[in-house]
Amino acid sequence: MGNSAYYEDLKALARDKRQLYGVQTALFGLRQVRAIYKAENIKIDTWPLPASIKALYMCDDGVCSVALKRDLPDEPKLFALVHELKHHYRDRTSLAAGMISASGDWNARDPIEIGAEVFAAEFIYPEAECLADIRAANVQLWTAEAIVSFKQSCRAKVSYTFLVKRLEWFGLAEKGAFKGVQFKKLEEQIFGVPFYKRRFRHSTATARGSRQ
Ligand SMILES: [Zn+2]
Repeated sequence: MGNSAYYEDLKALARDKRQLYGVQTALFGLRQVRAIYKAENIKIDTWPLPASIKALYMCDDGVCSVALKRDLPDEPKLFALVHELKHHYRDRTSLAAGMISASGDWNARDPIEIGAEVFAAEFIYPEAECLADIRAANVQLWTAEAIVSFKQSCRAKVSYTFLVKRLEWFGLAEKGAFKGVQFKKLEEQIFGVPFYKRRFRHSTATARGSRQ
């Protein structure tokens, strides 16, 4: 089977598994992916992995586990865990006993890895749903600011990298057009620094109780 047929097959697999586990895009996050891991009997361990590796999938004698890089933010963590599910469903038998599949930038061009990315993307935010949301947003020109606004109201837990890839895939953004854009910074400029990241500079003033 050619690569595109292989990727389409993995998208179909992702939709099947979503249905099996009753996944709803807006509700799907780390809690549910952990529940799926439990149901599939895959252990999750956190490790200080090297920069180029996000996660490892291992299966030996029917004992399956994923080593997940420590300190990943929630969105890439979710993506990595779903990526590893593809190795569990499709690559487990081709891995010789005790062999390991390492996922990261270092082997990003390998169809087995691209397939896992395609699977994870379809699982977390199916292409059809994403396209419908993008059309509904009614954006004439996808600028970095428009992407930040879209992400604010986006029901799927996905990263900026994810959204940019989708826009490129749908032909709504030129490939590489947003390379180097610091979306998080831009987001803070537009919407303000999120509460959890603020330093409590004002706490002394409040404590003085000038208003109460
Ligand atoms: Zn992988």
